[in-house]
Amino acid sequence: MSYKIDPNKCVSCGACAGACPMAAIALAAGLSPEAPVARSLGEVLLAKGGKYEIKKDLCANCGMCVALCPMAAIAKDEKKEQ
Ligand code: SF4
Ligand code: SF4
Repeated sequence: MSYKIDPNKCVSCGACAGACPMAAIALAAGLSPEAPVARSLGEVLLAKGGKYEIKKDLCANCGMCVALCPMAAIAKDEKKEQ
């Protein structure tokens, strides 16, 4: 069992990534690092469509991120383990 982020619900606020004790949450690959200057990092990420992902090999299944997400975008992944 592990946790996963629903990209359709995630608004890239970064709250989960900042709170994860295992540093298991990061922006998904493919986000351009050449984002233009904006008023806040969040605006850049939203403009670019950047989404966060949980690295299952690092996740300790503590559940902290689930409680923190304002969008209820994080849930247990009941699918088969990889
Ligand atoms: S806390 Fe929720 S909305 Fe914010 S980046 Fe994490 S998954 Fe996305
Ligand atoms: S369940 Fe815990 S260890 Fe896993 S991604 Fe969420 S905060 Fe990090």
